[in-house]
Amino acid sequence: MQNIIDRFISYVIIDTESDANSPTTPSTKKQLDLANLLVKELNTIGLTEVTIDENGYVMGTLPSNVDHEVPTIGFVSHYDTSPDFTGKNVKPQIIENYDGGDIVLNKEQNIILSPSYFKDLLLYKGQTLITTNGLTLLGADDKAGLTEIVTAMEYLVQHPEIKHGKIRVGFTPDEEIGRGADIFDVEKFGAKWAYTMDGSQIGELEYENFNAAGAKIKFKGKSVHPGYAKGKMINSMLIANDFINQLPKNEIPQETVDYEGFYHVVGLSGSIEESVVELIIRDHDANLFQERKNKVLEIAEEINKKFAQQFGEDICIAEVKDQYYNMREKVEPMMFIVDLAEEAMKQLGIIPLIKPIRGGTDGSRLSYMGLPCPNIFAGGHNFHGKYEYVPVESMQKAVDVIVKIAELTAKTDFPEK
Ligand SMILES: [Zn+2]
Repeated sequence: MQNIIDRFISYVIIDTESDANSPTTPSTKKQLDLANLLVKELNTIGLTEVTIDENGYVMGTLPSNVDHEVPTIGFVSHYDTSPDFTGKNVKPQIIENYDGGDIVLNKEQNIILSPSYFKDLLLYKGQTLITTNGLTLLGADDKAGLTEIVTAMEYLVQHPEIKHGKIRVGFTPDEEIGRGADIFDVEKFGAKWAYTMDGSQIGELEYENFNAAGAKIKFKGKSVHPGYAKGKMINSMLIANDFINQLPKNEIPQETVDYEGFYHVVGLSGSIEESVVELIIRDHDANLFQERKNKVLEIAEEINKKFAQQFGEDICIAEVKDQYYNMREKVEPMMFIVDLAEEAMKQLGIIPLIKPIRGGTDGSRLSYMGLPCPNIFAGGHNFHGKYEYVPVESMQKAVDVIVKIAELTAKTDFPEK
């Protein structure tokens, strides 16, 4: 376990915060500090074909050690951290044999990680936790994933008695700003399927995520002196308000769970002459997803009709753009890749927690780019903030899962695709 702790800490002390406002890849140059370290490490532990491309994508190979043909599989994680909270000067704290009580993250500022608020902590009584010092995020998302993949590869190199096929590893920049998969070279990666090690709690296994779209609706108006406005003024803010009121009241993030989709207003700005409403639309079901997008356009259309005579042209313009799709569609024809991960967990005594993701992962994009890619737990909790923590035992279990999947893949007769 010390090996895991040391490796994890060597990654989190490197600041790799990504930046959505930067047009380059990686979005921040400092991400390369870690990317280059990973290249060095993959070489040191004995992987082959270790490469880093001009965009910072790192790949490496653990060659097969069997004579028969085994499908090439991959493991993927991202090395950037979320811009939601600072990742500079991360000073991790190690809590050994956690007693189930409050953890003081920062004494001066009275920042406490408490199981009375974060109940998940109680799952890890007696274990070793790595936390922040209350001033930064930790970066377990997804440096836990990096740690697990590298450690598992190192273990397999050192234990040639464990038989496996060819394994590819891939580390990406900019996942947190939604661009991690964008220029991932799926062909060069050359795996039949892969797993992102980017989930949270131990046992998580995910192959369903939202279908996602973003909508921007512009409302126009007519400004007239309010004293003389009767029958003349059109206040675009009131129309925007009317639009929002016509969205189904209960279909919002804070009222929905599991497979329930939603409309979520994420931006609202306005003056009398022009207002803009931005929203995101999410649904696991492809048909319901389409209906939601239609609904937005229909409400806009109705408003246009209502103002057609008075305004003379369309008073509102709605733009709906797809963002990503449910990977289930791509994974389902190859369900054995989920079964394999589930079997690996069961053999290791881990209870698989299979549930739909209420969001997206790099894996959903990769699945549509030709690399079916379910998501497996990396072990951390409370991502993107100062309360982030990871139990070392969960990271160890994730390492075991990777090793087991490698082993099972070499033993299984897969259906021809
Ligand atoms: Zn992540």
